Amino acid sequence: MNAISVRFCVGCGYLCDEIHPEGGQPLWIDGHTYVMKYGVCWSDLDRRDGACPSCARVFAIAQRGAHPAAPRTATAS
Ligand SMILES: [Zn+2]
Repeated sequence: MNAISVRFCVGCGYLCDEIHPEGGQPLWIDGHTYVMKYGVCWSDLDRRDGACPSCARVFAIAQRGAHPAAPRTATAS
């Protein structure tokens, strides 16, 4: 069995196409597109959990906001 190592975004479920991406840059595509493109099965994929650039940005913001929210400053005095 030759597992295909692929980065998997835990945020949106996309897979990183690093084999033959369009435009030569690693490209995040949905799993269905990926398996159809390469004719592989999900069981062939050795998914490495990670985050695509857009989800990584969301996670970074979420982590920064993990501390209790500051009390809303009332405009009325
Ligand atoms: Zn993502």
